[in-house]
Amino acid sequence: MSARNPLLRNTRGFAREVLAKAQRQVKLQELQAHRLESFTPVIGTDYQCPTCWLMGKHSTMTPSCDAPPDVLFGCGTCGYEITVARH
Ligand SMILES: [Zn+2]
Repeated sequence: MSARNPLLRNTRGFAREVLAKAQRQVKLQELQAHRLESFTPVIGTDYQCPTCWLMGKHSTMTPSCDAPPDVLFGCGTCGYEITVARH
């Protein structure tokens, strides 16, 4: 088959797209792993959202439901919720 073959050109183009997408995913995962290493759960008195932190944002988690013995915290930016036990 030669490069003039439309099927071969399409297959190579598809393979390049798949490779480019995989390379972007690897870079994103490396960036998120780096961000995870620097995650700071509390800044001042504000609990930080881990999901937003991984996306490069700093969002505050606020108590959205107080149901003893647990407190439900929610992120107003991404909607992530976490339950924290009181002890
Ligand atoms: Zn968030």
